[in-house]
Amino acid sequence: MQPIHEHHFYQYLSCPNWIYWEREEWKTLEMLERRLMMDGLLPEMNRKILESRGYDEVDEEDHEEAFARTVQLMEQGVPRILHGALVHGRYVSRPDILERVEGRSRFGDYYYVACDIKRSHRLTREAKIAGVFHAEVLGLIQNTRPTQGYVMDPKGDVQSFLINEIEGEYHLTLLRLEETLEGDKPREFLSSHCKRSPWFAHCKQGVESCDHLSRINRIWIEEVEMFERAGYKRVSQLAKVKSSTLEKNVPGMKLERLRFLHRQAQSLISGKHDLVEPVALPSAPVELYFDIEADPLRDLDYLFGVLEIENGKETYHAFLAKSPGEEGEAWAKFLTFMAEHPGPVYHYGWYEIEVVRRLAQKYGSDEALVEALLKRMVDLLGLVRPKVIFPLSFYSLKDLAAYAGFSWRNAEASGAGSILWYEDWLAFNDEKKLKDILEYNEDDVRATYVLKKWLEEYAT
Ligand code: SF4
Repeated sequence: MQPIHEHHFYQYLSCPNWIYWEREEWKTLEMLERRLMMDGLLPEMNRKILESRGYDEVDEEDHEEAFARTVQLMEQGVPRILHGALVHGRYVSRPDILERVEGRSRFGDYYYVACDIKRSHRLTREAKIAGVFHAEVLGLIQNTRPTQGYVMDPKGDVQSFLINEIEGEYHLTLLRLEETLEGDKPREFLSSHCKRSPWFAHCKQGVESCDHLSRINRIWIEEVEMFERAGYKRVSQLAKVKSSTLEKNVPGMKLERLRFLHRQAQSLISGKHDLVEPVALPSAPVELYFDIEADPLRDLDYLFGVLEIENGKETYHAFLAKSPGEEGEAWAKFLTFMAEHPGPVYHYGWYEIEVVRRLAQKYGSDEALVEALLKRMVDLLGLVRPKVIFPLSFYSLKDLAAYAGFSWRNAEASGAGSILWYEDWLAFNDEKKLKDILEYNEDDVRATYVLKKWLEEYAT
């Protein structure tokens, strides 16, 4: 029987078939990939965060050895254990921190609670479910199940949640995970999580060949079920039906939403985009296209790439932190450059806005400068999504820019890949990796520019 670790919950929740396809042969994820998937940080970052509080660390890699050492430390009643292991039957839980609190357990007048360190400042559903898993295994080991779970952010701030609030969902997920391991194949349903899964290509082919309704970008499971109940099981069926018939047959769905999904289905079948409403795009003699590369394992934003377009002349500027300690300097240079170059700042998605706000706070940047920059930022994805329907299941920059005719120099490059390149650069000083990252970032801003030009031509 394969052991179940907390990262299997993350895997299952992002792609149920990931577990299914690997049930016979559990592929061991590399430490970096595992931490990346779980929104965790590197062990050295965890140590730094806990430095001022003090801790005993379990550094045994083997789970059984790590468990024996953890129990030893728990019996001694040390205040805090970093990277401990809890093993019970097939369950292997490795919370980042075990913290001693007052109460009763088999160890004496105290027990331990579990806390994971996550990059996200938000308490995610996945982190909570992993937290319940830790609490369950802790309960089996110390005879006291904690009532709260904890998540610490990179600043050391801790958020808590009640275990019994999410317990029901945890047990359901565990049950499904175990059934999947027994060979029960989960249903395929395309979602924005698919691209995180190594099995995506496998599924995509199946979903496309059966023309499943989840091919429609951002359709909800509940919406698919409503269509299925009305007899529309394939995108082609949905595309073919007359609007008036559809409106009569699917009365429970809001009309505006129903019409939008219908048009999406028609676009997928015809292979043509569909303009819902013209897109208003600010333009000026100087336009900037902006993209950030981050290393979430270090809670680091290390590259601010900008493509400057001045009267058709294209110049790429990179503000790069070659080491984590240079983030502040790269950020300051970027801010100065942006202040000196007026005009709209195009980017793709919410991340750039979030980083500008976060780094401004982190480095105490000039508020007026930051506010002026934020006002100039134009999120192309936010503009496009409600107004242009593409004949595509996914609306990532890669998908939309490819539709607009752009191709990346390195077709295999990805955000996750660039994180591993940066880690390689730091570990081995490999200049080639740094060059690959810069090329990838430059292609991203160029892709944003190509998409904007396409929108000017076809969607304004
Ligand atoms: S459709 Fe997507 S999320 Fe679902 S199993 Fe396939 S790859 Fe995973």
